[in-house]
Amino acid sequence: VKALVAQGGRPVYVEEYPPPEPDDGEVVIQVLRAGICATDIELLRGYMNFTGVLGHEFCGRVVAGSETLKGKRVVAEINCVCGRCDMCRSGLSSHCRDRTVLGIKGRDGAMAEHVCLPERNCHVLPDRIGDEDAVFVEPLAAAFQIAKQVPIDERTRVAVLGSGRLGLLVAQVLSGIGCQLLVVGRNPKTLEYCERWRINSRHVDDVERGRDFDVVVEATGSPAGFEIALEMIRPRGTLVLKSTTAGAEPLNLAPVVIDEIVVVGSRCGPFPDAIEALAAGRVEVSSMITKTFPLRRGQEAFEAAERPDQVKVLLDTTSP
Ligand SMILES: [Zn+2]
Ligand SMILES: [Zn+2]
Repeated sequence: VKALVAQGGRPVYVEEYPPPEPDDGEVVIQVLRAGICATDIELLRGYMNFTGVLGHEFCGRVVAGSETLKGKRVVAEINCVCGRCDMCRSGLSSHCRDRTVLGIKGRDGAMAEHVCLPERNCHVLPDRIGDEDAVFVEPLAAAFQIAKQVPIDERTRVAVLGSGRLGLLVAQVLSGIGCQLLVVGRNPKTLEYCERWRINSRHVDDVERGRDFDVVVEATGSPAGFEIALEMIRPRGTLVLKSTTAGAEPLNLAPVVIDEIVVVGSRCGPFPDAIEALAAGRVEVSSMITKTFPLRRGQEAFEAAERPDQVKVLLDTTSP
């Protein structure tokens, strides 16, 4: 099958990658669209030592492996779990100790014509959500995870650091919950989105760092974001970390101790919440898609995704 493979730090287009073989309980999905996210770029820089087909944000159509799902348009959760380990047995299967993760850890991803995943990972898409918007279900679910982990209400002062792909989704989700929200970014192009959505936003250089936010969500994708976050958060506030980067920068943790900050790591989230929000039009993602490339131009697509004039770059896995 045609696929985009991580090789020597680059996304390489391969015409005849071995087709994926479904295990017991797995379905074969024809991929319709896949999205490039910061994690994919970090994987190419060496994060997780990943090799294989890239891609974990996608939408597709089930072509084999399940009579109930055959022909249905789906999105799918990316953690493939054992169901037997202590984490799985205690209801924390997204932390399964034996897991593989689509396009991230031990499993070929979705930037290919076909992908295999356990049937139970699949969620059928309502017709109202188009193929392109559906690619956002996975990162949007990750944005919803914040609200599952940290209590946020209309009085909570929340800052979202980073107005990139993930930051903009987090901003929309938190704005929908209702809180005193400020998005802090560097890129005027992405900050414009906030303006259009009537979400308070400001350039990072214009923000007073007065240690007065109850919750700061770090979604910059850069280690520098951590330090800025610590200058914005109030004592005993909660810092939510959303970025995964390949680097291992030294961090000064003294402010965490002195201000008794609660640090919350946050990764994958609830798909049903994301699907419902998209179907109801409570989150707007179409305008975030700034370019779509065919799979064979994958390398160009990745180059584009790193440029500041682009927000979400998609791959059309069906186009020749
Ligand atoms: Zn992602
Ligand atoms: Zn397990």
